Amino acid sequence: MKKILFVAIVFAIIGLGIFVVSNISQKSKIGPQKITVVTTLFPLYDFAKVIGQDKVAVSLLLPPGVEAHSFEPKPSDIVKINESDIFVYTGKFMEPWAEDIISGITNKNVKFVNISNGINLMKLTDGMPDEAHGFDPHIWLDFDNNKTMIDGMSKALTEKDPANADFYQKNATEYKDKLAQLDKQFKSKLAKCENREIVYGGHYAFGYLANRYNLKYLAAQGLAPDSEPTASDLIKLVEQVKKDNIKYVFYEEMTTPKIAETIANETKAKMLLLNAAHNVAKEDIEANISFLSIMEENLINIKTGLGCSE
Ligand SMILES: [Zn+2]
Repeated sequence: MKKILFVAIVFAIIGLGIFVVSNISQKSKIGPQKITVVTTLFPLYDFAKVIGQDKVAVSLLLPPGVEAHSFEPKPSDIVKINESDIFVYTGKFMEPWAEDIISGITNKNVKFVNISNGINLMKLTDGMPDEAHGFDPHIWLDFDNNKTMIDGMSKALTEKDPANADFYQKNATEYKDKLAQLDKQFKSKLAKCENREIVYGGHYAFGYLANRYNLKYLAAQGLAPDSEPTASDLIKLVEQVKKDNIKYVFYEEMTTPKIAETIANETKAKMLLLNAAHNVAKEDIEANISFLSIMEENLINIKTGLGCSE
């Protein structure tokens, strides 16, 4: 019933959207027209900006600082998608609402890009906290997946704006090179460490990264930050930290790090940020933070946390 009502609202809003679009297309006759890209998560926002630069107007659906997994688009967000040239989302495991919205969009101009196309999603297997979703949606935390995502973004921009194909291609190649360099650094700097266990006082987000660099990843929560860890899960983590003499426990971005604090208080471990980059704060957007800089910071913290020496 809730779904039917939601779809009805979507269609009502689309009507309004068409009205807004017709107004906008009149306005846009003044000045050069930019390709409008609506993205769902910070890494997609970052990729679109880096590849499109001054040829695109990119927006992020998530308001600054908002937790990504529990986000549901508002009617005004649906209008925004309906007005856009390109709508990029991660996939149904990250944005379970996307397919419903797409089916309701009436503006034939909108190009929908499921950026996980061509990526092998990691299956959640036994021992991982939450198996309800089946697959791990945090594809952007693997540099090979980033290449596929950047290619997908570049292809979509080229289809909308073939005249600038070389520009998008060049920017995409440069960004992929930078990420490949950072991947190399992750490999070399995380090769020799005192321990290889990332204890995370947050949700299950770093499976891809741990897998890529041969690390073990223990998260206190399941796939979503609002899933409360059980007391027995917390006790197990505390025991693990003590048993393996783990010196640092990691906490996630943009939530109160109370789980990591609890683990740190029960052990002698200190705390370090490990930022999964779903979304960023308002100050970060203003400071022009990039996905690359977030990952550079993560490497420094993992290196410290696991006691890695080059
Ligand atoms: Zn997540």
